[in-house]
Amino acid sequence: MEPIILDGKAYADEICDKLRDTVSGRMANSPQLERPELTIVSTGNDSASAVYLRNKINRCIQIGIDITHRHYSSIDQSEIESLCCKNCPIIFQLPIISNAVDIKYIITKNMQSYPESDVDGIFSYENIANLYTGSHIPLNIPCTAIGIIKLLKHYNIEMCGKVVCVIGRSNIVGRPTAQLFENENATVIKCNSYTPKNTLIKMVEAADIIVSAVGRANFITMLDLAECMSGRGQKLDISKKVIVDVGMNRDSDGKLCGDIPQNVKDHCYAYTPVPGGVGPMTVAMLMWNTINTWSRKNGTFTVDV
Ligand code: NAP
Repeated sequence: MEPIILDGKAYADEICDKLRDTVSGRMANSPQLERPELTIVSTGNDSASAVYLRNKINRCIQIGIDITHRHYSSIDQSEIESLCCKNCPIIFQLPIISNAVDIKYIITKNMQSYPESDVDGIFSYENIANLYTGSHIPLNIPCTAIGIIKLLKHYNIEMCGKVVCVIGRSNIVGRPTAQLFENENATVIKCNSYTPKNTLIKMVEAADIIVSAVGRANFITMLDLAECMSGRGQKLDISKKVIVDVGMNRDSDGKLCGDIPQNVKDHCYAYTPVPGGVGPMTVAMLMWNTINTWSRKNGTFTVDV
């Protein structure tokens, strides 16, 4: 049977259309409203960042979000202090170039009073604590993580009671993704660079859903699946597994690709393509967080997507 392609681009288009309609509807009803805003801070000359940036700016234009793009060759503490303020949605495009020793800590410190402005959901301790304790709904949930959960729900992929293997533990992707799956009552296995490959493949074997957030092309190959099972004289059967491929890499021809090669994905139950899977969902969730911050600021309903 052909695997199901979890089309993040099509679903992100739907979400962004809904956000656009919400903005235009509210602006038509209350012309005195300030338009939603987003500040994007970028640094350096990273070519991959430039692509992500363009996608974000295009979505802002589509939805009607006023965008301020501030680009620095290198950013310092005083510039960060002046950028962080109440009800001003802001993101710092990674990687951040700075001469400051720990620039991420400086941003974190400056975002503490403004969890509503932290629309990436990764700097404010209030957003992070609420995500991990489950005590309150965080104002902003990290975009890639919530994008994955929304996409799986959209395709009616069951998470409750399933085993999920999350490979990668970055603060922006792996950790929040693992936590959100746990919040959905999945049993979560987490792997990192110290997980031996044969252990990792055993975890993959145990999982119903595999999330790869490593950043390495051909991270799990057909050969890996075959070799791991060679002692048992058979290849690992992935025909009932869902593969969520977060990786954004370049192959040897310079073409954008994920962590998991197509010939592996061809054997699974469902998978996210690269491009067109998790990436567009990440951007759509950034737009969603931005519109929800605007909604709370104006005392209107947050948007359900
Ligand atoms: P990152 O900060 O470099 O984290 C990579 C993670 O992979 C680390 O936790 C690392 O473990 C783990 N890892 C490395 N080698 C491994 C191995 N052999 N076995 C198991 N784990 C291993 O990267 P990131 O920011 O999370 O991004 C990961 C990938 O997703 C990149 O390709 C990035 O471009 C992409 N990305 C895509 C989106 C999207 O919207 N699609 C969004 C963000 C990122 P350690 O912690 O032990 O080092």
